[in-house]
Amino acid sequence: MEKIAERVAACRKCDGLGYFYDGKVKAGQFGETKICICVEAFCRCGGRTPYQYFDAQMEAHWCPCRPYRQKLRQVQRLFAHSDVPKRYQWKFLDDFKEADPKGVKIRGAMDLKSVVRRRVETCQLGKAPRGVLLWGSPGNGKTMLSCILLNELMFQFTMPGKFLDLSLQYFEKLRNTYNEGSDRYGQSWNILETLSTIPCLVIDDFGVQRNTEWEQEMLYNLVDARYEHERLTMVTTNKPFEEIRELHGGRIYSRLLEMCEIIQVEASDYREHSNHQAGRSRNGVQG
Ligand SMILES: [Zn+2]
Ligand SMILES: [Zn+2]
Repeated sequence: MEKIAERVAACRKCDGLGYFYDGKVKAGQFGETKICICVEAFCRCGGRTPYQYFDAQMEAHWCPCRPYRQKLRQVQRLFAHSDVPKRYQWKFLDDFKEADPKGVKIRGAMDLKSVVRRRVETCQLGKAPRGVLLWGSPGNGKTMLSCILLNELMFQFTMPGKFLDLSLQYFEKLRNTYNEGSDRYGQSWNILETLSTIPCLVIDDFGVQRNTEWEQEMLYNLVDARYEHERLTMVTTNKPFEEIRELHGGRIYSRLLEMCEIIQVEASDYREHSNHQAGRSRNGVQG
């Protein structure tokens, strides 16, 4: 066991994880996660569950590959249940480009990337990272960036996480739990419980809801519960800051302020610029 751990720790292909994401697409839309050669080199079970092999005396042993393969399966399960939108599903730090295809630096991209990198480093030290609230005009990479952080934490640390799109799902789901005809009837507690306690949550498109009292109350309950449980929360919003600040009499914002670093992402379209020309994005940190 000692030997495999050393070999994996020194491996640059998988950065010490024992598994990696191979982005080369053979079939379908995505690449695949694979066990790294540094683990394969020690494997005596052929990668078959329950990852056991038999010695010459026909005695069973756990294969050295076992913890790595189990962790990889856990990662795969987390990704399958994360609800991250398809186009961001397998995006990692390296996918957040700092320069356009012509090599011109995209302004602000490096700073935004370091928002993710710092949090990954905090997790590496075994500490809990601070949440982040990204606000600014639509379509400048806020959602992608928060998905990248979620993906990195699921992939490297098997931290369970979810992506919550407030514009589409949340309130509709919740409302269905109050509708006797729905198969979700009576489940609001379940939904809230999962979202309140899951270690890492992206709340995307904060503030697009219609802001009825009921919706604001639900939103407050969610944010408040995550605050109470000290869970990592990432929020993106296209709303003017003043509007966020005033939601639900300021109670939601005051909770967010406790949990999150507030970062303004000023830009036109990050993705657009990352594909075409030099960007004008810039970010500044506020209170
Ligand atoms: Zn490796
Ligand atoms: Zn094996």
